[in-house]
Amino acid sequence: MPSPTPATQPLQFDSRQKLRCRRLLLSVAVYVPCALMLVMVSWLGFLPPWFTPAWAAIFTCTNILFFGLIRTNTNLRFKDPSMTMAQMAVAIGAVAFILYHAGAIRGGLLMLLLVIILFGVLRLSTAELLVMGALSSAAYAAVIVLLLVNQPEQVDPRVEWVQWATLTTTLAVLCPLVGYMSKVRRRLSESLRTIKDMAQRDALTGIFNRHHMGETLDREIGRCERGSPAFLALIADIDHFKQINDNHGHLVGDQVLKAVAAGTREILRKSDYMARYGGEEFVLILAADGPAEAGAACERIRARVERLGIPELQPQGVTISIGATFFRHGDTQASVLGRADAALYRAKNGGRNRVELDEIAQAAAG
Ligand code: GH3
Ligand code: MG
Ligand code: MG
Repeated sequence: MPSPTPATQPLQFDSRQKLRCRRLLLSVAVYVPCALMLVMVSWLGFLPPWFTPAWAAIFTCTNILFFGLIRTNTNLRFKDPSMTMAQMAVAIGAVAFILYHAGAIRGGLLMLLLVIILFGVLRLSTAELLVMGALSSAAYAAVIVLLLVNQPEQVDPRVEWVQWATLTTTLAVLCPLVGYMSKVRRRLSESLRTIKDMAQRDALTGIFNRHHMGETLDREIGRCERGSPAFLALIADIDHFKQINDNHGHLVGDQVLKAVAAGTREILRKSDYMARYGGEEFVLILAADGPAEAGAACERIRARVERLGIPELQPQGVTISIGATFFRHGDTQASVLGRADAALYRAKNGGRNRVELDEIAQAAAG
Protein backbone atom coordinates (compact mmCIF):
# COMPACT_ATOMS: atom_id res chain seq x y z
CA MET A 1 0.00 0.00 0.00
CA PRO A 2 1.59 3.27 -1.00
CA SER A 3 1.86 5.99 1.60
CA PRO A 4 2.37 9.20 -0.31
CA THR A 5 2.56 12.43 1.65
CA PRO A 6 -0.89 12.70 3.23
CA ALA A 7 -3.46 14.98 1.61
CA THR A 8 -3.96 16.66 4.96
CA GLN A 9 -1.04 17.83 7.10
CA PRO A 10 2.37 16.18 6.57
CA LEU A 11 3.48 14.26 9.66
CA GLN A 12 5.39 16.53 12.08
CA PHE A 13 5.42 14.61 15.32
CA ASP A 14 8.24 12.19 14.59
CA SER A 15 10.55 14.80 13.15
CA ARG A 16 10.10 17.00 16.27
CA GLN A 17 10.94 14.12 18.59
CA LYS A 18 13.98 13.32 16.45
CA LEU A 19 15.07 16.95 16.70
CA ARG A 20 14.72 16.78 20.51
CA CYS A 21 16.91 13.66 20.56
CA ARG A 22 19.49 15.42 18.39
CA ARG A 23 19.53 18.46 20.71
CA LEU A 24 19.96 16.20 23.72
CA LEU A 25 22.91 14.48 22.01
CA LEU A 26 24.39 17.91 21.27
CA SER A 27 24.28 18.87 24.95
CA VAL A 28 25.66 15.43 25.93
CA ALA A 29 28.50 16.10 23.48
CA VAL A 30 29.45 19.09 25.64
CA TYR A 31 29.68 16.85 28.73
CA VAL A 32 32.39 14.77 27.00
CA PRO A 33 35.09 17.49 26.64
CA CYS A 34 34.03 18.67 30.10
CA ALA A 35 34.77 15.18 31.50
CA LEU A 36 38.15 15.14 29.70
CA MET A 37 38.97 18.51 31.21
CA LEU A 38 38.03 17.15 34.67
CA VAL A 39 40.37 14.18 34.14
CA MET A 40 43.21 16.62 33.44
CA VAL A 41 42.28 18.83 36.41
CA SER A 42 42.20 15.74 38.69
CA TRP A 43 45.56 14.59 37.29
CA LEU A 44 47.01 18.02 38.18
CA GLY A 45 45.71 17.50 41.71
CA PHE A 46 43.01 20.19 41.84
CA LEU A 47 40.19 17.62 42.19
CA PRO A 48 40.10 14.36 44.19
CA PRO A 49 40.61 11.21 42.03
CA TRP A 50 37.09 9.88 42.76
CA PHE A 51 35.48 13.08 41.50
CA THR A 52 35.46 12.62 37.69
CA PRO A 53 34.06 9.03 37.66
CA ALA A 54 31.36 10.03 40.18
CA TRP A 55 30.48 13.18 38.21
CA ALA A 56 30.37 11.27 34.90
CA ALA A 57 28.20 8.48 36.38
CA ILE A 58 25.63 10.89 37.88
CA PHE A 59 25.24 12.95 34.71
CA THR A 60 25.28 9.97 32.34
CA CYS A 61 22.32 8.56 34.31
CA THR A 62 20.50 11.92 34.21
CA ASN A 63 20.92 12.21 30.45
CA ILE A 64 19.82 8.60 29.94
CA LEU A 65 16.69 9.57 31.89
CA PHE A 66 16.06 12.54 29.55
CA PHE A 67 16.66 10.27 26.53
CA GLY A 68 14.20 7.70 27.94
CA LEU A 69 11.55 10.39 28.45
CA ILE A 70 11.82 11.38 24.77
CA ARG A 71 11.98 7.82 23.41
CA THR A 72 8.86 6.81 25.36
CA ASN A 73 7.08 10.06 24.38
CA THR A 74 6.58 10.82 28.08
CA ASN A 75 7.96 14.31 27.43
CA LEU A 76 4.91 15.09 25.27
CA ARG A 77 2.84 15.28 28.45
CA PHE A 78 5.02 18.12 29.80
CA LYS A 79 4.30 21.81 29.28
CA ASP A 80 7.62 22.11 27.44
CA PRO A 81 8.26 18.76 25.68
CA SER A 82 11.78 19.84 24.71
CA MET A 83 12.66 20.00 28.47
CA THR A 84 15.29 22.65 27.66
CA MET A 85 15.08 24.41 31.04
CA ALA A 86 15.19 21.10 32.93
CA GLN A 87 18.28 20.02 30.96
CA MET A 88 19.94 23.38 31.59
CA ALA A 89 19.10 23.21 35.32
CA VAL A 90 20.74 19.76 35.51
CA ALA A 91 23.81 21.13 33.69
CA ILE A 92 23.98 24.07 36.15
CA GLY A 93 23.82 21.50 38.98
CA ALA A 94 26.67 19.57 37.31
CA VAL A 95 28.83 22.72 37.16
CA ALA A 96 27.96 23.72 40.76
CA PHE A 97 29.12 20.24 41.84
CA ILE A 98 32.46 20.89 40.07
CA LEU A 99 32.77 24.40 41.54
CA TYR A 100 32.29 23.11 45.07
CA HIS A 101 35.29 20.78 44.69
CA ALA A 102 37.46 22.91 42.39
CA GLY A 103 39.47 24.78 45.04
CA ALA A 104 41.99 27.26 43.60
CA ILE A 105 40.76 26.98 39.99
CA ARG A 106 37.09 27.72 40.76
CA GLY A 107 37.24 31.17 39.14
CA GLY A 108 38.24 29.79 35.72
CA LEU A 109 35.60 27.09 35.75
CA LEU A 110 32.83 29.65 36.18
CA MET A 111 32.94 30.01 32.38
CA LEU A 112 31.14 26.68 32.12
CA LEU A 113 27.99 28.39 33.43
CA LEU A 114 28.11 30.80 30.46
CA VAL A 115 28.35 27.90 27.99
CA ILE A 116 25.11 26.49 29.44
CA ILE A 117 23.31 29.81 28.92
CA LEU A 118 24.38 29.75 25.23
CA PHE A 119 22.32 26.57 24.79
CA GLY A 120 19.21 28.68 25.45
CA VAL A 121 19.61 30.10 21.93
CA LEU A 122 18.07 26.86 20.67
CA ARG A 123 14.74 27.52 22.30
CA LEU A 124 14.35 29.85 25.31
CA SER A 125 12.81 33.30 25.54
CA THR A 126 14.64 36.19 27.25
CA ALA A 127 12.52 35.75 30.41
CA GLU A 128 13.35 32.02 30.57
CA LEU A 129 17.03 32.77 29.99
CA LEU A 130 17.00 35.30 32.82
CA VAL A 131 15.54 32.56 35.07
CA MET A 132 18.40 30.25 34.05
CA GLY A 133 20.91 33.10 34.59
CA ALA A 134 19.48 33.73 38.07
CA LEU A 135 19.68 29.98 38.77
CA SER A 136 23.38 29.94 37.73
CA SER A 137 24.09 32.94 39.95
CA ALA A 138 22.18 31.36 42.87
CA ALA A 139 23.99 28.02 42.34
CA TYR A 140 27.40 29.71 42.65
CA ALA A 141 26.21 31.72 45.68
CA ALA A 142 25.05 28.43 47.28
CA VAL A 143 28.48 26.86 46.55
CA ILE A 144 30.22 29.83 48.24
CA VAL A 145 27.94 29.64 51.30
CA LEU A 146 28.46 25.85 51.59
CA LEU A 147 32.22 26.27 51.31
CA LEU A 148 32.24 29.04 53.95
CA VAL A 149 30.30 26.75 56.28
CA ASN A 150 32.17 23.48 55.58
CA GLN A 151 35.76 24.60 54.76
CA PRO A 152 36.11 28.25 55.90
CA GLU A 153 39.89 28.02 56.15
CA GLN A 154 40.25 27.15 52.43
CA VAL A 155 38.06 29.93 51.01
CA ASP A 156 38.75 33.63 50.64
CA PRO A 157 35.24 35.13 50.80
CA ARG A 158 36.32 38.40 49.14
CA VAL A 159 37.69 36.61 46.06
CA GLU A 160 34.60 34.38 45.83
CA TRP A 161 32.08 37.22 46.14
CA VAL A 162 33.95 39.37 43.59
CA GLN A 163 33.89 36.38 41.23
CA TRP A 164 30.20 35.93 41.99
CA ALA A 165 29.48 39.60 41.19
CA THR A 166 31.43 39.31 37.91
CA LEU A 167 29.54 36.17 36.96
CA THR A 168 26.17 37.73 37.79
CA THR A 169 26.95 40.88 35.78
CA THR A 170 28.10 38.81 32.80
CA LEU A 171 24.92 36.72 32.99
CA ALA A 172 22.77 39.87 33.18
CA VAL A 173 24.26 41.02 29.84
CA LEU A 174 24.49 37.60 28.19
CA CYS A 175 20.94 36.37 28.91
CA PRO A 176 19.06 39.18 27.08
CA LEU A 177 21.55 38.93 24.19
CA VAL A 178 21.08 35.17 23.84
CA GLY A 179 17.30 35.70 24.24
CA TYR A 180 17.36 38.14 21.31
CA MET A 181 19.34 35.67 19.16
CA SER A 182 16.89 32.94 20.12
CA LYS A 183 13.92 35.12 19.01
CA VAL A 184 15.56 35.93 15.66
CA ARG A 185 16.32 32.23 15.14
CA ARG A 186 12.68 31.29 15.90
CA ARG A 187 11.32 33.93 13.51
CA LEU A 188 13.68 32.76 10.76
CA SER A 189 12.59 29.14 11.12
CA GLU A 190 8.90 30.20 11.12
CA SER A 191 9.50 32.19 7.91
CA LEU A 192 11.28 29.21 6.39
CA ARG A 193 8.27 26.99 7.21
CA THR A 194 5.90 29.52 5.62
CA ILE A 195 8.05 29.78 2.49
CA LYS A 196 8.23 25.99 2.22
CA ASP A 197 4.46 25.73 2.64
CA MET A 198 3.87 28.42 0.00
CA ALA A 199 6.21 26.62 -2.41
CA GLN A 200 4.31 23.33 -1.97
CA ARG A 201 0.69 24.42 -1.76
CA ASP A 202 -1.87 25.90 -4.07
CA ALA A 203 -2.91 29.33 -2.75
CA LEU A 204 -6.61 28.98 -3.61
CA THR A 205 -7.48 25.47 -2.44
CA GLY A 206 -4.72 24.89 0.15
CA ILE A 207 -3.93 21.45 -1.27
CA PHE A 208 -0.53 20.55 -2.73
CA ASN A 209 0.45 22.17 -6.04
CA ARG A 210 1.63 20.72 -9.33
CA HIS A 211 5.31 20.99 -8.42
CA HIS A 212 4.79 18.98 -5.24
CA MET A 213 2.66 16.47 -7.15
CA GLY A 214 5.51 15.89 -9.62
CA GLU A 215 7.96 15.15 -6.80
CA THR A 216 5.46 12.89 -5.02
CA LEU A 217 4.64 10.95 -8.19
CA ASP A 218 8.35 10.42 -8.91
CA ARG A 219 8.85 9.17 -5.35
CA GLU A 220 5.88 6.77 -5.63
CA ILE A 221 7.14 5.47 -8.99
CA GLY A 222 10.51 4.80 -7.36
CA ARG A 223 8.86 2.92 -4.49
CA CYS A 224 6.84 0.74 -6.89
CA GLU A 225 9.96 -0.03 -8.95
CA ARG A 226 11.58 -1.23 -5.72
CA GLY A 227 8.70 -3.66 -5.11
CA SER A 228 5.92 -1.75 -3.36
CA PRO A 229 2.36 -2.46 -4.57
CA ALA A 230 1.19 -0.45 -7.59
CA PHE A 231 -0.58 2.83 -6.81
CA LEU A 232 -3.67 4.19 -8.53
CA ALA A 233 -3.31 7.61 -10.20
CA LEU A 234 -6.41 9.70 -10.97
CA ILE A 235 -7.02 12.88 -12.90
CA ALA A 236 -10.31 14.48 -11.83
CA ASP A 237 -11.63 17.34 -13.98
CA ILE A 238 -14.64 19.53 -13.15
CA ASP A 239 -17.31 19.27 -15.82
CA HIS A 240 -18.30 22.37 -17.81
CA PHE A 241 -16.33 24.59 -15.46
CA LYS A 242 -16.03 27.31 -18.07
CA GLN A 243 -19.84 27.55 -18.08
CA ILE A 244 -19.84 27.88 -14.29
CA ASN A 245 -17.43 30.80 -14.59
CA ASP A 246 -19.40 32.32 -17.47
CA ASN A 247 -22.80 31.96 -15.77
CA HIS A 248 -21.91 32.75 -12.15
CA GLY A 249 -18.63 34.67 -12.29
CA HIS A 250 -15.07 33.76 -11.42
CA LEU A 251 -15.55 34.25 -7.69
CA VAL A 252 -18.17 31.50 -7.63
CA GLY A 253 -15.82 29.47 -9.86
CA ASP A 254 -13.13 29.87 -7.20
CA GLN A 255 -15.58 28.79 -4.46
CA VAL A 256 -16.41 25.69 -6.50
CA LEU A 257 -12.70 24.80 -6.81
CA LYS A 258 -12.28 25.16 -3.05
CA ALA A 259 -15.43 23.14 -2.30
CA VAL A 260 -14.39 20.30 -4.66
CA ALA A 261 -10.91 20.14 -3.08
CA ALA A 262 -12.23 20.29 0.50
CA GLY A 263 -15.11 17.84 -0.13
CA THR A 264 -12.80 15.30 -1.76
CA ARG A 265 -10.19 15.59 1.00
CA GLU A 266 -12.87 14.81 3.56
CA ILE A 267 -13.30 11.29 2.25
CA LEU A 268 -9.65 10.51 1.51
CA ARG A 269 -7.64 8.27 3.80
CA LYS A 270 -4.54 9.55 5.52
CA SER A 271 -2.29 7.73 3.08
CA ASP A 272 -4.07 9.17 0.02
CA TYR A 273 -2.66 12.15 -1.81
CA MET A 274 -4.35 15.01 -3.66
CA ALA A 275 -2.92 17.98 -5.57
CA ARG A 276 -4.20 20.68 -7.90
CA TYR A 277 -2.82 19.78 -11.32
CA GLY A 278 -4.02 22.79 -13.29
CA GLY A 279 -7.05 25.12 -13.55
CA GLU A 280 -9.95 22.77 -12.67
CA GLU A 281 -7.99 19.52 -12.68
CA PHE A 282 -6.79 17.51 -9.72
CA VAL A 283 -4.38 14.57 -9.46
CA LEU A 284 -4.90 11.94 -6.77
CA ILE A 285 -2.65 9.04 -5.80
CA LEU A 286 -4.43 6.28 -3.93
CA ALA A 287 -3.82 2.78 -2.66
CA ALA A 288 -6.09 0.19 -4.27
CA ASP A 289 -5.75 -3.60 -4.33
CA GLY A 290 -7.25 -4.18 -7.76
CA PRO A 291 -9.48 -2.76 -10.52
CA ALA A 292 -12.73 -3.40 -8.61
CA GLU A 293 -11.49 -1.58 -5.52
CA ALA A 294 -10.03 1.19 -7.72
CA GLY A 295 -13.38 1.64 -9.48
CA ALA A 296 -15.18 1.85 -6.13
CA ALA A 297 -12.69 4.43 -4.75
CA CYS A 298 -13.06 6.63 -7.86
CA GLU A 299 -16.83 6.27 -7.71
CA ARG A 300 -16.87 7.43 -4.07
CA ILE A 301 -14.96 10.56 -5.05
CA ARG A 302 -17.22 11.27 -8.02
CA ALA A 303 -20.36 10.80 -5.87
CA ARG A 304 -18.95 13.04 -3.11
CA VAL A 305 -18.53 15.94 -5.53
CA GLU A 306 -22.02 15.37 -6.97
CA ARG A 307 -23.44 15.66 -3.42
CA LEU A 308 -21.64 18.93 -2.62
CA GLY A 309 -24.81 21.05 -2.89
CA ILE A 310 -23.15 24.43 -3.57
CA PRO A 311 -26.08 26.93 -3.13
CA GLU A 312 -25.10 29.21 -6.09
CA LEU A 313 -25.13 26.26 -8.51
CA GLN A 314 -28.54 24.85 -7.69
CA PRO A 315 -30.30 22.99 -9.20
CA GLN A 316 -27.57 21.68 -11.58
CA GLY A 317 -24.78 21.41 -9.00
CA VAL A 318 -21.23 20.47 -9.90
CA THR A 319 -19.83 17.19 -11.18
CA ILE A 320 -16.43 15.79 -12.07
CA SER A 321 -15.15 13.23 -14.55
CA ILE A 322 -12.33 10.92 -13.52
CA GLY A 323 -9.70 9.04 -15.52
CA ALA A 324 -7.63 6.52 -13.55
CA THR A 325 -4.75 4.14 -14.14
CA PHE A 326 -2.53 1.79 -12.14
CA PHE A 327 1.25 2.13 -12.10
CA ARG A 328 2.99 -0.26 -14.49
CA HIS A 329 6.65 -1.25 -14.51
CA GLY A 330 8.78 1.11 -16.58
CA ASP A 331 6.34 3.97 -16.07
CA THR A 332 7.42 7.60 -15.98
CA GLN A 333 5.42 10.53 -14.67
CA ALA A 334 4.41 11.36 -18.25
CA SER A 335 3.26 7.82 -19.08
CA VAL A 336 1.16 7.47 -15.89
CA LEU A 337 -0.50 10.86 -16.35
CA GLY A 338 -0.87 10.23 -20.11
CA ARG A 339 -2.90 7.05 -19.50
CA ALA A 340 -5.02 8.73 -16.79
CA ASP A 341 -5.62 11.64 -19.17
CA ALA A 342 -6.65 9.30 -21.99
CA ALA A 343 -9.13 7.61 -19.63
CA LEU A 344 -10.41 11.06 -18.57
CA TYR A 345 -10.92 11.93 -22.23
CA ARG A 346 -13.11 8.83 -22.59
CA ALA A 347 -15.07 9.81 -19.46
CA LYS A 348 -15.74 13.24 -20.97
CA ASN A 349 -16.74 11.75 -24.32
CA GLY A 350 -18.90 9.18 -22.56
CA GLY A 351 -21.12 11.92 -21.16
CA ARG A 352 -19.15 13.39 -18.13
CA ASN A 353 -19.88 12.86 -14.42
CA ARG A 354 -18.36 9.39 -14.75
CA VAL A 355 -15.29 7.30 -14.02
CA GLU A 356 -13.10 5.53 -16.59
CA LEU A 357 -10.21 3.20 -15.74
CA ASP A 358 -7.46 2.72 -18.30
CA GLU A 359 -8.15 -0.04 -20.79
CA ILE A 360 -6.12 -2.83 -19.18
CA ALA A 361 -7.56 -2.17 -15.72
CA GLN A 362 -11.04 -1.95 -17.23
CA ALA A 363 -10.58 -5.35 -18.93
CA ALA A 364 -9.33 -6.87 -15.66
CA ALA A 365 -12.36 -5.48 -13.84
CA GLY A 366 -14.53 -7.22 -16.44
P1 GH3 B 1 -14.95 20.03 -19.62
O1 GH3 B 1 -16.23 19.58 -19.05
O2 GH3 B 1 -14.70 19.46 -20.98
O3 GH3 B 1 -13.81 19.84 -18.72
O4 GH3 B 1 -15.12 21.61 -19.88
P2 GH3 B 1 -14.61 22.77 -18.98
O5 GH3 B 1 -15.44 23.96 -19.27
O6 GH3 B 1 -14.55 22.35 -17.57
O7 GH3 B 1 -13.11 22.93 -19.47
P3 GH3 B 1 -12.34 24.14 -20.15
O8 GH3 B 1 -10.91 23.67 -20.27
O9 GH3 B 1 -13.02 24.57 -21.40
O10 GH3 B 1 -12.44 25.30 -19.11
C1 GH3 B 1 -11.72 25.34 -17.92
C2 GH3 B 1 -11.93 26.71 -17.32
O11 GH3 B 1 -11.34 26.79 -16.01
C3 GH3 B 1 -11.31 27.81 -18.11
C4 GH3 B 1 -10.58 28.68 -17.08
O12 GH3 B 1 -10.96 30.03 -17.22
C5 GH3 B 1 -11.11 28.16 -15.78
N1 GH3 B 1 -10.15 28.30 -14.69
C6 GH3 B 1 -8.86 27.85 -14.62
N2 GH3 B 1 -8.32 28.17 -13.44
C7 GH3 B 1 -9.26 28.84 -12.72
C8 GH3 B 1 -9.28 29.42 -11.41
O13 GH3 B 1 -8.33 29.39 -10.64
N3 GH3 B 1 -10.43 30.02 -11.01
C9 GH3 B 1 -11.54 30.08 -11.84
N4 GH3 B 1 -12.64 30.68 -11.39
N5 GH3 B 1 -11.52 29.55 -13.07
C10 GH3 B 1 -10.41 28.92 -13.52
MG1 MG C 1 -9.69 20.69 -17.84
MG1 MG D 1 -13.28 20.72 -17.03
